[in-house]
Amino acid sequence: KCSVGEKQASGILERLDAGEIVIGDGGFVFALEKRGYVKAGPWTPEAAAEHPEAGAQIVGVNCHFDPVTCVKTVKLMKEGVEKAGLKAHFMSQPLAYHTPDCNCQGFIDLPEFPFSLEPRILTRWDMQKYAREAYNAGIRYIGGCCGFEPYHIRALAEELKHGSWGSGLEMHTKPWVRARARRDYWENLKPASGRPFCPSMATPDGWGVTKGHADLMQQKEATSEEQLKALFDKASKGH
Ligand SMILES: [Zn+2]
Repeated sequence: KCSVGEKQASGILERLDAGEIVIGDGGFVFALEKRGYVKAGPWTPEAAAEHPEAGAQIVGVNCHFDPVTCVKTVKLMKEGVEKAGLKAHFMSQPLAYHTPDCNCQGFIDLPEFPFSLEPRILTRWDMQKYAREAYNAGIRYIGGCCGFEPYHIRALAEELKHGSWGSGLEMHTKPWVRARARRDYWENLKPASGRPFCPSMATPDGWGVTKGHADLMQQKEATSEEQLKALFDKASKGH
């Protein structure tokens, strides 16, 4: 994970201390898979978790939930940090997928995970809204994780650094498109999915296995036919 900004020379803490907004760029594995560079295999964890010593300088959340959930979570963290009389910078790196129907494990339990999540992708305007809400919540490291594409990162930067809400359409040849060169059009639009037989919400899987359960152990050798069959049977029986 790296950050993109004008002042590449200084470190992230110096930039946050100086009051700068840092736009984070995530979405590593998912982006590479979509571009064909990586074929999904064992799905090993994409990032190693760091364990900062007590007194973390940047506090936040990463992955598993949409921007709405992540901003709400960081707001709660900020309240907690302030209540304890501590100071920190705050960050959020949500998914670029809408996940209002998730349970507590987030998008990994959605039936669409990981290869049919596209209908849930945030538009650039959803991203601009997220950038503003994160900023208003006091978050200054504003980034993204799985599902983020370069145009999403651009939308964050546009909202917070050099904003535009469709003004690029002012010169469009079609008058009905020129009529969309305004913020309230995109802000109030409820984009259609074009999928008449699809539900707007899904029912997350609920296998009921948590840390320590044998089913969650990763083995070094390839998953066998029998092991796969057992899982397929469990899934089709509704576990
Ligand atoms: Zn992620």
